[in-house]
Amino acid sequence: MESLIFEISRPGRCAVKLPDLDVPPAELPENLVRDELVLPEVSEADVVRHYTRLSQMNYSVDTGFYPLGSCTMKYNPKVNEEVARLPGFASLHPYQDEESVQGALFLMYYLQEFLKEIGGFAGVSLQPAAGAHGELTGVLMMRAYHLDRGDAARDVILVPDSAHGTNPASTSMSGLRVVEVPSDARGSVDLGALEATCDEHGDRLVGMMLTNPNTLGLFEEHVEEIAALVHARGGLMYGDGANMNALLGIARPGDLGFDVLHYNLHKTFGTPHGGGGPGSGPVGAAFSLVDFLPGPVVTMDEEWSEESLPHFAFVSPRKSIGRVKAFYGHFGVMVRAYAYIRMLGADGLRRAAEHAVLNANYLMSQVKDLYRVPYERVCMHEFVCEGVVPGAPDVRALDISKRLIDYGFHPPTNYFPLIVHEALMIEPTETESKETLDAFADALRKIAEEARIDPDLLHQAPHSAPVRRLDEVRAARELILRWEG
Ligand SMILES: *Cc1c(COP(=O)(O)O)cnc(C)c1O
Repeated sequence: MESLIFEISRPGRCAVKLPDLDVPPAELPENLVRDELVLPEVSEADVVRHYTRLSQMNYSVDTGFYPLGSCTMKYNPKVNEEVARLPGFASLHPYQDEESVQGALFLMYYLQEFLKEIGGFAGVSLQPAAGAHGELTGVLMMRAYHLDRGDAARDVILVPDSAHGTNPASTSMSGLRVVEVPSDARGSVDLGALEATCDEHGDRLVGMMLTNPNTLGLFEEHVEEIAALVHARGGLMYGDGANMNALLGIARPGDLGFDVLHYNLHKTFGTPHGGGGPGSGPVGAAFSLVDFLPGPVVTMDEEWSEESLPHFAFVSPRKSIGRVKAFYGHFGVMVRAYAYIRMLGADGLRRAAEHAVLNANYLMSQVKDLYRVPYERVCMHEFVCEGVVPGAPDVRALDISKRLIDYGFHPPTNYFPLIVHEALMIEPTETESKETLDAFADALRKIAEEARIDPDLLHQAPHSAPVRRLDEVRAARELILRWEG
């Protein structure tokens, strides 16, 4: 890498011209003066080139295909970004009074309404900061529901063995116990085992967390029976809605028996994610739980009329579990989701889901003869195969993923869900063309050949990336964030 910013530093070079002082000069407090700090002295062109070059080393949805399963790394229309940056939205301050932010409340109110309609729920709160935070919120609401009925002994949440790691984690954080439910040979919840578990924990059951489509990319075949079993023991159904990209406009979790569910606006509704930026995990609730939603939520306290615009206000639901987030949630993400939903409309959202499912099934049909698909059914928006090549016993899913980088592709999700051996979880999303999907399948085909002929080529991959194979565990444990000359 040429032009590392510290190495090209030359005394006296400068990228900024500070304005003339317009206040009386004052001495800085001693503890703020750090003479020993080594700062690069470089020109503006040096700085711009340095950061532009760094940005080009990153892989992104804007530069290539990003089939990271369970994440819905879809192309996010640029108009969302433009709208979120409008000064009237971007410059709002959370301490402004309600009268001066009626436009923002309008947007939040209608986003709540759209999400209610999309999920089939009676109410929505936009507060939670991300999916995992929505889970914690939902579990706390379920617990509050039971406590409100004087049912204090319930402390068990059922979680399938295919679940995303956040499901057991958020359950534990809420102080409840996780009881795992196995999957059956078709990749669905094992109904017999569920019934036995329900019998064992019946009067201790807070409820069940279920992801649909599940993390194998499969629609739960017995979702209504599952909900009936749990409801019959007085339990509630929590829906992990991270996979809503497959359901938009086709099936509504509220109609399928879920009592509470989180949406991931940064997966399904057009906000970029993956770089650690803000997400948003609104929670939808059925009538039985709507009073427990975190507040404040937005209500329309004066309707539209011929003479006047509607008026909006923040209110706290009657038995609210309280706030789960400072102020009102991640407003910028809400703006993007609102823009995305309005742009696509009801028909467009349904088409997005249909194309997401079509693309995943097409790609699966191209890949399944190369890499075994252990639960081979019509999939939803993603599918899981085994990163195993017959005739190349030393090659693992990780090697295949690293080699994909050399072919210009972001790897799929590796080693999740845990119930699939050497899992490669592939989610193409709706916006990719047949040409892209064919090119990706082609790369996987070539890699399978390479694995048999020259497995070391895969073990050493990537060969063409700015950095070679990293020790990912060490990289996470021993972060070096400071330049040392
Ligand atoms: C992404 C995801 C989550 C967690 O969502 P975050 O927004 O990343 O916290 C939960 N469950 C599933 C199935 C997911 O894919």
